[in-house]
Amino acid sequence: MGRAGRGRVWHSAQPPLTATDDNLATMVQMYKEPKTQSVQAAVELRGVSCYFGPVKAVDGVDLEILPGEFFSMLGPSGSGKTTCLRLIGGFEQPTAGQIVLFGQDASKLPPYARDVNTVFQDYALFPHMNVRDNVAYALMVRGVPKPERHRRAEEMLELVKLSGLGDRRPGQLSGGQRQRVALARALINRPKLLLLDEPLGALDLKLREEMQIELKALQRQLGITFIYVTHDQGEALSMSDRVAVFNHGKIEQLDNPKTLYEYPKTEFVARFVGSANVLEGRLLGLGTGKYALRPERIAIQAGSHNGPNSLCGTLLDIHYLGAQTRYEVQVGNERLTVLTPSEEQGLQVGGAVTLRWEHSALRPLQEAS
Ligand code: ATP
Repeated sequence: MGRAGRGRVWHSAQPPLTATDDNLATMVQMYKEPKTQSVQAAVELRGVSCYFGPVKAVDGVDLEILPGEFFSMLGPSGSGKTTCLRLIGGFEQPTAGQIVLFGQDASKLPPYARDVNTVFQDYALFPHMNVRDNVAYALMVRGVPKPERHRRAEEMLELVKLSGLGDRRPGQLSGGQRQRVALARALINRPKLLLLDEPLGALDLKLREEMQIELKALQRQLGITFIYVTHDQGEALSMSDRVAVFNHGKIEQLDNPKTLYEYPKTEFVARFVGSANVLEGRLLGLGTGKYALRPERIAIQAGSHNGPNSLCGTLLDIHYLGAQTRYEVQVGNERLTVLTPSEEQGLQVGGAVTLRWEHSALRPLQEAS
């Protein structure tokens, strides 16, 4: 929770701003400094918990998401991110706390009464309906006449690059195309908030990367708030304005991707986002506490050469990765990873190596609360 406290709705004569690439940083700042101007959060979770019997799936989460933000919930399996998304969608009820959507308490509202749509991981398309009718489904339920809903469905299909496929059944599409249909169906009634639960999980790597770019572009174009659940840190970093890292039902860190990667606060975040080396301060001659050191911030050379900001060890393995080379090095009881842009010459598995880094590359870590 920001230092301005809970339940902020900052009144202003102007309508709430929507985030764009240009003004998002300003909006986040404005949000932190409520006296300067008003921004109403799209979503606020205030002390929200959700327990399933003894399992604390979500445990006292405070969260604010801005209108127009691409916000990701990242964490390992079982960390509570899907439950958090389902709470926002109204598919689960909080055990404690309050959920506020666009300034209104939505804690007790059913899913259909929220201005929210969801794209589920399995897409949940109707197999007996063609693509056009799948996309137009929400309009049909609302009684929109057929010509109008078909026209709008075709517009949506064009938006997700599926023009001309309206007559097919979902079973006659590829996984990536089905994913686009699910997206078009969720967007057709222009919800203020779109929830996406690992929507790219079933796609192969190349298609997933293409869809990441398209999803981000689509979100910017429409200006809709996206809340995206994933366990893939690369996906979260590449698409999001901000990322909440979940662990054991709590948010361990919430920051923009760059800050999250460059300044992980805890050992869990350092290891989960970009797999950092975590070193004891004692090993570094820095007293107690732990430090994160990214593999690409370490240089490696053959032989043992003592000096400041360095450690000597034994080279265990070399992995050629194409664009980079990864080295595994044993230093005392620790196994460290080093990444270099090209393969260093003269290194031999089993041989002595020296690792060096700039002092500024070390990130002190806090104990998780
Ligand atoms: P995944 O990536 O595997 O979906 P997640 O981070 O989204 O994981 P959740 O699905 O939110 O995690 O689950 C958090 C915890 O709550 C897990 O321990 C899970 O087993 C438990 N849980 C979730 N839904 C239920 C339910 N309906 N009944 C009982 N336990 C549940």
